[in-house]
Amino acid sequence: MKKPRVLVVDDSATIRRLLECVLRGENDVLTASSGSAALQMALDESPDLILLDISMPEMDGHEVCRRLKAEPRTNGIPVIFVSALGEPGDEAAGLNLGAIDYIIKPISAPIVQARVRNHVELKRIRDTLAALSMQDGLTGLANRRRFDEMLQQEWRRGLRLSTPVALIMCDVDYFKKYNDHYGHLSGDECLKSVASAIKAVALRPGDLAARYGGEEFAMLLPHTDAEGAATVAEKIRTGVEKLRIEHARHDSEPCVTLSLGVAALTPEMDQPAEQLIARADKALYAAKHGGRNRVALAG
Ligand code: GH3
Ligand code: MG
Ligand code: MG
Repeated sequence: MKKPRVLVVDDSATIRRLLECVLRGENDVLTASSGSAALQMALDESPDLILLDISMPEMDGHEVCRRLKAEPRTNGIPVIFVSALGEPGDEAAGLNLGAIDYIIKPISAPIVQARVRNHVELKRIRDTLAALSMQDGLTGLANRRRFDEMLQQEWRRGLRLSTPVALIMCDVDYFKKYNDHYGHLSGDECLKSVASAIKAVALRPGDLAARYGGEEFAMLLPHTDAEGAATVAEKIRTGVEKLRIEHARHDSEPCVTLSLGVAALTPEMDQPAEQLIARADKALYAAKHGGRNRVALAG
């Protein structure tokens, strides 16, 4: 496992060097000598933990902590205040700002090492749980919760920038018959393979492949018009076809196939994102009724 990354913030070079010495065996240690440098480094380097001096000229530790907690990209990083006894600002004030712990100078090396180790461990557990809560257990794709969140986020962005948001809804054809014929476990394996083929087509950083539910998948494509999304959908369709997963009970093909519905909308004021889903769903229904194993575009 990679070493935890710990950012030490202190205006005193002596303390920075001391803490670096104490921590560098188990951690990658970064240092910053001012609050503003620390804020920038927290953004750029995503440390696992920040040791923060309270009394610094220019910007004190309390203010740095306040800003770290106000910024979504840094508010998950645990902060431990390091402060000399009798310094202004008491322990409770620091903890109330969202710091996770408090260390009093002069520091004791084994105590600092142990506290840092404990908090890094907790941070890793929190990160793992957060990632799992957004992931579908069977396929590893984004789950429905993550999809819903990203749809709302991209919809708001599309409204701000007047750019289209596209959605592809995919549904495995005759999957009930697949389960009935090959058994539920094979059905699960089939869904995993289909998910990998779908994910392989999500190429841009903003593209999101998700398990929408059961044997339905969704691909969210920000900044993409209907034509672009139709191309992606066709790639998904052929990608799944090329898996050549035998499906003896398919009505028209020898292997597992997908039907796909595509819709793209440029969000308008007071228009709910659900309209995009409704349109893609309607197109999917048309693809099913048009004969399956095909892409249909919302009218
Ligand atoms: P159509 O071509 O119209 O889509 O027919 P279909 O049989 O695929 O659609 P239907 O909605 O009738 O059936 C979906 C099936 O998907 C039923 C359900 O048992 C199965 N299914 C849903 N989730 C899972 C899963 O996680 N694992 C497995 N093995 N099967 C699942
Ligand atoms: Mg279905
Ligand atoms: Mg189906």
